[in-house]
Amino acid sequence: MEKELIFLDPVCKHNIWGGVKLREAFGYPVEGNDIGECWGISAHPEGDGTVRDGAYKGRKLSELWSEYPELFGSLPYDRYPLLTKIIDAQDDLSIQVHPDDAYAQVHENGSLGKTECWYILDCREDATIVIGHNAKDEDELKAMVADGRWQELIREVPIRKGDFLQIDPGTVHAIKADTLILETQQNSAITYRLYDYGRLQNGKPRELHIDKSLDVITVPAKSAKESVQSISDLPKNKLNRIYGCEKYTVFKLDVDGSAEFAQSFSFLAASVVDGEGSVDGKTVRKGDHFIIPFEYGEVKASGQMSLILSTVEA
Ligand code: ZN
Repeated sequence: MEKELIFLDPVCKHNIWGGVKLREAFGYPVEGNDIGECWGISAHPEGDGTVRDGAYKGRKLSELWSEYPELFGSLPYDRYPLLTKIIDAQDDLSIQVHPDDAYAQVHENGSLGKTECWYILDCREDATIVIGHNAKDEDELKAMVADGRWQELIREVPIRKGDFLQIDPGTVHAIKADTLILETQQNSAITYRLYDYGRLQNGKPRELHIDKSLDVITVPAKSAKESVQSISDLPKNKLNRIYGCEKYTVFKLDVDGSAEFAQSFSFLAASVVDGEGSVDGKTVRKGDHFIIPFEYGEVKASGQMSLILSTVEA
């Protein structure tokens, strides 16, 4: 079959901390005022995206991965390795930490661990985010948790629209209210909840995973300065590589007029996060997600729009 862009209909999730932006600003056809997440490019069993049109119309991303591995450069993974989400937090999310692959393999029934990164699409002017902690060693971490010294332990850092944050396994992290982000992560949903601000849901506190959290939290944490990077002023009309690690490589493309680049990766998972335009003659707008398959060749984009793209480097 000829190589075509593969557009996906995402899976949206209802969360008590969600809002209406994913419908009103991004156009996803979902009812309710509690839409927290759009799993834009996902082959996870809890939210497997469906191909919107073209040769593979109606197929799930997980099926494409297993039946047409050549679309993704025949990578040696048993499942689509990434998950791209847009998250609209209207309330503070609980404070979490994720295990790495080795820990999840043993303790979570063979699941992948979770490395993730966030691109801040929108936030308040004085916004902060939770990333890292202030314990200097394991003993201090355990003591602070045991004594409930959360204010002392949890590290909040200022953020601005256009910031990028890498969240390695073992990093304590949480999104605060009124923050809209695009998350690129490993295909996993393994999360340990460390602290939930003492809140109640239906009269009860939500379950915490203190022991597993203490097992996996990295001590000391990476510095606050190392944790946040601004990428709001990158060269236009260029595929800018903004981060690469063993699990993924992430790019940003700001189209202002027209842009052209070579799809020289195993695949590119693309999300339009602002504006509108076209890609190889297909009209795209904020909220669209698509895959540019292996050996697709040159990609021509035009319009006024920003995209975040990701791949896995073999
Ligand atoms: Zn997370």
